[in-house]
Amino acid sequence: MATLSDVLEARTAEAAPELVERLDKNRIRCYACGHQCPIPEGGVGVCKVRFVKAGTLHVPWGYVGGIQCDPIEKKPFFHAHPGALAFSFGMLGCDLHCAYCQNWVTSQALRDPAAISPPIDITPASIVADARQLGARVVVSTYNEPLITAEWAAAIFDEARAAGLLTAFVSNGNGTDRVLNYLRPHIDFYKVDLKSFDDRHYRQLGGRIDPILFTIRRLHEMGVWLEIVTLLIPGFNSARDELERLTAFIASVSPDIPWHVTAFHKDYRMADPENTTPEMLMEAAAIAKQAGLRYVYAGNIPGHVGDLENTRCHNCAALLIERYGYLIQRYRLTPDGNCPDCGTAIPGRWGRQFDGQIASTPFLPGGRRLRTF
Ligand code: SF4
Repeated sequence: MATLSDVLEARTAEAAPELVERLDKNRIRCYACGHQCPIPEGGVGVCKVRFVKAGTLHVPWGYVGGIQCDPIEKKPFFHAHPGALAFSFGMLGCDLHCAYCQNWVTSQALRDPAAISPPIDITPASIVADARQLGARVVVSTYNEPLITAEWAAAIFDEARAAGLLTAFVSNGNGTDRVLNYLRPHIDFYKVDLKSFDDRHYRQLGGRIDPILFTIRRLHEMGVWLEIVTLLIPGFNSARDELERLTAFIASVSPDIPWHVTAFHKDYRMADPENTTPEMLMEAAAIAKQAGLRYVYAGNIPGHVGDLENTRCHNCAALLIERYGYLIQRYRLTPDGNCPDCGTAIPGRWGRQFDGQIASTPFLPGGRRLRTF
């Protein structure tokens, strides 16, 4: 019987030339993520889904591990077309191995025998056709780490943009200059998970902090709309000092970058920390505001975090968008994305008008074997 590795090996294409460097001894360096693996003939990268065979770097292609329709607020993007339906797809594998991953069935598919999520063969055209048919405004690469499958995302995004749709990555941000330059012509919005501000913590997750900070700075320089999320895990990244440094870093890149601090719940292999309380989120949000961030949101505990689900004008504090969880309850921005009370331009990518929400909770497109994340 074919293993999952065999199945995925048959679903590959050649890597984009921009993401490849030929080294000595027949090795090929991959630049799709911050690991920058030098891969020998017959070897695989840290992500386990990119491999060298017959002198070629093979990369994932032609399948998804799951598709789901999400409100864009779930990604979360709060300053990018509020209310839009985000047609979301993921592949398999990840370059990190976070013990608390909420998408471990797809992200750890090749590392953990308990993570079984067979691929579904599909084409970019059919993904985009489904997205349009369901009324989606945005196509999102998410669930597993999209950087390690950048070529497949770029192919889908080209098709999506040709059909008038927007495109986004939900990513751990472990990027390189090469992969960000490669993606720039294809991508509109980018969410980075800033999981900690301590390199030792990142090493526990299988990465380093420097590539993540580089990605945040570079995306902002490039003008890609960026929102940052930190899952607040008591005892892991919740120290006041760490949160002060983390939020000061974001503010130093731009005080206009929205920061979402979200609640941890016990998942996958990280069952020791207690769940995050609303008070912890509110305290972290206060630290962020003290650091100078203008748009701070608390997530995963709807209705218990006071005003931290809403968007207020950073100039006059007028209520602009009222939310409960992913539900938009009120929308007041002008067609130009300004505060209706004081006229201040609100950072983000806004539609001319709020078109309502097709859904404020995720749903699966009908008829296909899919799973909830
Ligand atoms: S995507 Fe990252 S982990 Fe995978 S082969 Fe490339 S550099 Fe290595």
